Amino acid sequence: ALTIGIVGLPNVGKSTLFNALTKNDALAANYPFATIEPNVGIVPLPDPRLQQLADVFNSEKLVPATVSFVDIAGIVKGASEGEGLGNKFLANIREADAICQVTRAFADPDVVHVAGTVDPSDDISTVHTELVLADLQTLERAIPRLEKEVKGKKADPAVLTAAQAAATVLDSGRPLSAATAKDGVDVAQLRELGLLTTKPFLYVFNVDETVLGDEARKDELRAIVAPAEAVFLDAKLESELVELDAEEAAELLASVGQTESGLDQLARVGFATLGLQTYLTAGPKESRAWTIRQGWTAPQAAGVIHTDFQRGFIKAEVVGFEDLIAAGTMADAKAAGKVRIEGKEYVMADGDVVEFRFNV
Ligand code: GDP
Repeated sequence: ALTIGIVGLPNVGKSTLFNALTKNDALAANYPFATIEPNVGIVPLPDPRLQQLADVFNSEKLVPATVSFVDIAGIVKGASEGEGLGNKFLANIREADAICQVTRAFADPDVVHVAGTVDPSDDISTVHTELVLADLQTLERAIPRLEKEVKGKKADPAVLTAAQAAATVLDSGRPLSAATAKDGVDVAQLRELGLLTTKPFLYVFNVDETVLGDEARKDELRAIVAPAEAVFLDAKLESELVELDAEEAAELLASVGQTESGLDQLARVGFATLGLQTYLTAGPKESRAWTIRQGWTAPQAAGVIHTDFQRGFIKAEVVGFEDLIAAGTMADAKAAGKVRIEGKEYVMADGDVVEFRFNV
């Protein structure tokens, strides 16, 4: 499964947030593996459609899609110099498919800030700088090796060209995710190097609860990271919310003017940042959301349920979620001509409710 690595400077609220992410044990019943790895938090993707489907099909249970977060030890300023970022840190972050930087924007004078003042923009550039330097170090080692290999016809010259172009971008202080067509960085050629700044980024601003409803302040913070996505949450509040039952949690959220928890928002934004989407299946046993990559075809989607479904794929019976709910039942949706038969080339749309037909 794809994972999101959580990074940030010390004392910004990473552990507080991560503890909230892992306490979210509503999943334990469906995902017995959810607590096996101590530094992995598996969070359900909020999806109100599942309950509606369960009502239509009288499903016994709901199985949401999930998003996995990995806690990666903190970054400090200067970390990429001297000892370097640390092998464990680098190994963990290289494995992550996207990076979520937690940034402190809460005031609390009792919590020491490593740089002395709370300055989200400064913190974000500190972390960027460390990741950029780490990638530069990787390339400084890789480029001479690639030069030799290209001479000996053991490496594709396109990889060397991409590595050199990447080094130029990093030298100018920019992460590779900010490279434009002009920079000529062919990211696909760089995959084997495990560079950190090619990964998609998202940002969590750990704010005081008063900021949650302060759109002007949130716009200021958003501007720092645009076009990347920003999620605003109060990590302390989130750690209290996960201790409450659904009704109490809704009341506490309402008292700070919110309708959705920060963790739910983070799960949604994280899922999209990973380039994922869901499709739905439903029956008396369960109503379930399945995770696929955006752009996947029907047979690829079927393969997520079982490899046999992909191998023996014949066709898919597909109805849009909205059409199904409007019709009321599957039989009514069929009678209304809303259930389509789709073949091997069909590209899945978000919210497709599907039944696959396959040979075994
Ligand atoms: P980490 O080093 O990034 O993992 O940070 P921690 O999660 O350990 O948090 C550092 C300190 O900040 C702890 O004392 C937390 O209780 C406190 N803290 C974390 N989040 C918040 C928050 O949203 N508001 C306030 N006031 N304090 C927080």
